[in-house]
Amino acid sequence: MSRLRLVAAGVTDVGRVRDGNEDDFLDQADRLGLVAVADGMGGHRAGEVASATALEALRAAVASGEPLREAIEGANEAVLEKSESDHELQGMGTTLTAGMLGTDGSLTVGHVGDSRAYLIRDGELRQITEDHSLVEEMVRGGELTPEQAEVHPQRSIITRALGIDPQVDVDEYPIELEAGDRILLCSDGLTTMLRPEDIANILGREHDPGRAAQLLVDAANAAGGEDNITAVIIEAVEVSEDEAVAAPVVDDEGDATDTGARPQKRRRRPGRTLLRVAMWALPILLVLAVAFGFVGWYARNSYFVGSNRGRVTVFQGIKGGLLIWDPTVERRTTLQADSPPLTDAQLQDVKDGKKFSSRSDADAYVARLRRQVEATTATTAPPVTTAPPPPAAPPS
Ligand code: MG
Repeated sequence: MSRLRLVAAGVTDVGRVRDGNEDDFLDQADRLGLVAVADGMGGHRAGEVASATALEALRAAVASGEPLREAIEGANEAVLEKSESDHELQGMGTTLTAGMLGTDGSLTVGHVGDSRAYLIRDGELRQITEDHSLVEEMVRGGELTPEQAEVHPQRSIITRALGIDPQVDVDEYPIELEAGDRILLCSDGLTTMLRPEDIANILGREHDPGRAAQLLVDAANAAGGEDNITAVIIEAVEVSEDEAVAAPVVDDEGDATDTGARPQKRRRRPGRTLLRVAMWALPILLVLAVAFGFVGWYARNSYFVGSNRGRVTVFQGIKGGLLIWDPTVERRTTLQADSPPLTDAQLQDVKDGKKFSSRSDADAYVARLRRQVEATTATTAPPVTTAPPPPAAPPS
C-alpha cells in the first residue's frame, strides 16, 4: 500500500517594474503538508508586512492543529489586528491561496483574492480557484468577455482580501490527489503576464518543481514583469506506507483532525461578505467605466473635416484628441486646404475642423466643397448653374 506526500518548490521575484516584492510564499510541504502564496498590498511596503503576517499566522494555526478554513480566518484577523495597531500599516491587505494535504490523501485548497491555484494532471492545466476580482465578477455577470478582462485597466482590483474586514469568506476546493499530480500556486503577476497555454507549455517541458517555478517566473519577466511574480509548484509523490508513517506530515495532519473541534471560537457565520473596499469602490468604478465608455463612444463616433499636409482630410475622432482617443485619418482628398479656390469661410471651417456626427455627413460636405471648387475653376460655367452654393457652408 502506498500513500501520497507533497514535494514543493517556489520562486518569488520582484519583477521588472516594482520597487519591492510584496508577494511571499510558504513551503511547509515536508513538515505540515502546507503550501501557500500571498500577494500583499498597501503603501510604504505595508503589503510585504501583510503577506508575511498572513503566512506566518497560517503556518502557526495549521501547526497547532486548526483546519485550513479556520487557519485562514485566523490569518485574516492577524493581518487586520496588525494594520489597526500601526498607522503606517493601515489599509494593508493580502491575498492568500493555500493547499493543505489531508490525512486521507486529498488536498484542500483555501482561497481569498486573485492569486490562483491550478491543477496539472495528464499534461492538462485546469484552474481550480475563481478570482475575487472586479473584472472576474464582471465576466461572471456577463458585463465583460474574458478577452476584455485580460486587458481591462482595472484588472488588478480585488473584491476580497485578508486584513480588510473582521469577517472573510474563504473559498474551499477539495481535490482528490493522484500520484504525479502537480498544483501550481501563483500570484497575479504570473497570470497577467502569461496565458494558460504558456504556463501549460512550460510545465509540460519541465517536471522538476523548482526548475519549473523558475522558468515560469523567467517567462513572466520576459513578458514584461509588470508586477511581483510568485510561482510555487507542489507535486504529489507516491511513497510507501513505511515512508509515509515516518514523514512528519502524517503526524501533523493527525493532530489536525484530532483537535479540529478545538478552535470553534474562530468559526464565522457562512455567507458572502463583500469587502468594504469593494462596496465603495464598485459604484465609483462603474460610474467611471460608464463615463469612460461614453467619452470613448463619443470620440470614435465623431468626424471632422480638417487639414492634413495641406489637403482637405476627413478624420474620425475629435480634433486634438479626447483622453486616450486620438483622431485618425479616414480619407485624404486632393483639395487644397489652405488656399483658394475654397472661400475664406470654408478655409476657416477646415482650419477649425468642421464637425459631423457621421462619416457620410463628412463625405457629403467634402463633395460639396469639391463641386464648388470645380465650379469655380471651370471658366465656362458660372458657379450658380452647375453647383449651387452648399447649404452647409456658412457665410463668414
Ligand atoms: Mg500582484
